[in-house]
Formats: sequence, structure tokens, C-alpha cells
Amino acid sequence: MLKKENSSALFNRAKNFIPGGVNSPVRAFRAVGGNPIFMHHAKGAYLYDEDNYSYIDLINSWGPMILGHAHPVVEEAVKQALSGSPSFGAPTRREVEMAELICSLVPSIEQVRMVNSGTEATMAAIRVARGFTGRDKIIKMEGCYHGHADSFLIAAGSGALTFGVPDSPGVTKGVANDTLTAPFNNIEAIEKLLIENKNQVAAIILEPVVGNMGCVIPEENYLQRLRNLCNQHEVVLIFDEVMTGFRLALGGAQELYGVKPDMTTLGKIVGGGLPVGAYGGKKEIMSCVSPAGPVYQAGTLSGNPLAMAAGMALLTHLKNNPQVYANINETGKTLAAGLLQQAAHHYIPAQVNQVGSMFTLFFTKEKVSDYETAKKSDTALFGKYFNAMLEQGVYLAPSQFEAMFISNSIGKEEIDKILIASDLAFKSLS
Ligand SMILES: *Cc1c(COP(=O)(O)O)cnc(C)c1O
Repeated sequence: MLKKENSSALFNRAKNFIPGGVNSPVRAFRAVGGNPIFMHHAKGAYLYDEDNYSYIDLINSWGPMILGHAHPVVEEAVKQALSGSPSFGAPTRREVEMAELICSLVPSIEQVRMVNSGTEATMAAIRVARGFTGRDKIIKMEGCYHGHADSFLIAAGSGALTFGVPDSPGVTKGVANDTLTAPFNNIEAIEKLLIENKNQVAAIILEPVVGNMGCVIPEENYLQRLRNLCNQHEVVLIFDEVMTGFRLALGGAQELYGVKPDMTTLGKIVGGGLPVGAYGGKKEIMSCVSPAGPVYQAGTLSGNPLAMAAGMALLTHLKNNPQVYANINETGKTLAAGLLQQAAHHYIPAQVNQVGSMFTLFFTKEKVSDYETAKKSDTALFGKYFNAMLEQGVYLAPSQFEAMFISNSIGKEEIDKILIASDLAFKSLS
């Protein structure tokens, strides 16, 4: 084991004053054993920790660092914005430009409201859907994560799944009763819920490609059939593209699969690494939002100048450099194929689900298509693989139920290093 004394010391201090020592549970290493690594800085494809070890980063801040860390385009934009004051609490030009940019890139968004996190975006989106339809219930898919608002902490994926608390204390029965759940990729279950709860369902919300029970891919026509059911039952279809937005394509999963939701939630990449979320959709629906309409939603720091500058610089770079997508998708394919081949070579039962630059290596012999099948994975084996990779300088998400996110800074050299490390990691398991 490498000695990580500074990280350990910081973690011990952190545990005194921060619950569990971390500001978000997915950063703890509870699911894989050991202590979290405290990062000092990062550049391109590499993270550097407090003990000066370096790691190839396959999390990339859970998505936003799609170009790699400390990209000069984002850095320059933030510096410029900073010198003009970091916040006004009054409207600014950047917010207009950001809204125009998002509406031009995401096929279904006609109007958009900026918020400060993905959690805020999804929380607001269902409030608006409820206000628009006059109905109370929502349907979510088991294992999908939509942030930590009360309504969503029911069969909530990654963090919750990892720690075995699918329903969090503090969520009232009343709230939980309004959240109906169905397995992902099961259209019959949705049909049944819509019939049983006729004229009561305001919205169906899902990750169009799931990242939060590990990467799970929608089956052929699943998204289109959801679209059709929502039309038929006058239900608002919400794609939570906090992970997939600007990652699977410039226009997100809705562009990739050619299915338009009524509303879309964004986060992660949209802020270029600063705390940003956004929700948007049809004008007819978004005009319910205050002050245009009666549904209240607000934010002191929403549309913050630094955050807008970072997000806009990143999105503009992606728009002007479509080869980024060709490159990260190719890396995704190469890594997925490489890992699968290695697992077979070492007789380790494994599945790799991959869409573009998102993928998960599941330690199970069965195909993973929903929460039930994802849960069959051997998490102890994943923990060993994770730690073997970490020892060799490859930083994976510290849970079986997460996706990896590839950045454009990962080149041939890094791919080779990852595959060499992975081969040794698999070897240590067999
Ligand atoms: C990360 C995530 C969220 C929550 O976003 P935060 O910025 O962490 O609040 C919501 N939905 C999905 C699909 C996510 O991946």
C-alpha cells in the first residue's frame, strides 16, 4: 500500500467537523474500503493528491471536466468575469447569452431558468410540471438519481444504493406517497401506473441513459414509447440530463436518441466545474415559472457571473470543436472493449455498459438493464479492483454503481496506462 499520510491526516480532521468527513457521501470510500484521497490540484487528465501522488482521472468531477482539468478556455473566462465582480443580484448580459446558447444546443429547450445545482433543477422541474398539470404524483425509475430533494429519495441509485438506504429518514410519508416508481426499461410497468393513477400523474422523470446505478442503456424504442405514453396521458416527460447533457452529444441524450422530452434538467457540464444547474423546456410549460407565471422558484446567486462565464466558455468550445465527441466516444469504445476482453482473459464474470464517453464495468455474469440486475454485481470484487487501480494511479468512481466519465485529455498514453493497470488489477482478483 502506498503511504498517503497527508490525506489520512486531513480525513481525521475532517471527521471532527464534517459529517463523515466529506461534503457529499459519494466521495467517501465506504463502499470500496479505505480512506478518501484528498486532492490538491489537477491538470489535463491527471489529479494530484495531498501526498503528491498522481492519478489518471476517470471521474472528472462526475462529468463537468469533459475537456480535462484546468482547461485554459474555462480558466481565462472565469478570470475575466472575476475582475468585473463575482455577483450582482441583478440581471447581466452573460445570462441572456447563456440562455440563448442552451436553447440553441438542446433540441427540446425553448426557455430555460438557471439554478445552482442539479438538485435544484430537478426539484424545480417537478414543481413546474405539477403547477402546469394541476396534478400531484410523479413517476421515477428505480435506481435513477435526481439529486437529494425529498421527492426523489425513493429508490434513488448510487449514493443511496451504495449505502443501502433507499428511503432516507426525514422524507415524510406524504411526500413519498406522491412518488411512484417503476423499473427502468419496463414500459408495461409505466402503462400500468398511468392507468391505475389516471389523471393524477404530473410527470415522468428519468435519466435517458442512466449513470446513477452504473451506466444502464435504454432498450430500443424505450424512450420513444415513454414519449408516446406521455402524449396519450398528458403527462410531462422530463429527461434528467444532468449527466448526459452536453456529454453524449452537444444536445444530450435527446439528440442522440432523437426523442424530445417536454422538460430537461441540466447540471454538471453546463457549469464548466462551477456550481450550476438549469431546467428548461417548452415555452408553454416554462411560462408557468415566476414572474411570468404562478409557480415560484428563485435564487440569490442564480446566473452567477463566474458560473455563467465558465459554463459558456466550455459549451462554446464544445460547439466549435465537434471532434471532442468523436475523440471521447472512441476512447469509451476502446476502454470498454479492452476491459471486457481482460475480464474474459482472467475468467472474471463482467459486463461493460458503454454509451459514448460513459461506461461502467459491472462484476456480474448477467446483462445489466435495470436496478435489479445492477444489484446482482459483486461489490466486494469491485472494491478490490478499485483499490488495485488506485494503487497503480487510476482514479475510478468509488462505487460499483457509478459511471466513469472520459475527458478529452485522455490520450493514447493514458489509455495504454489504464489498460495495463486494469490487466494487473484483474490478475490480482483471479
Ligand atoms: C448529479 C446528478 C444530479 C444532482 O446534481 P447536483 O448538482 O449534485 O445537485 C441530478 N440528476 C442526475 C442525473 C445527476 O447525475
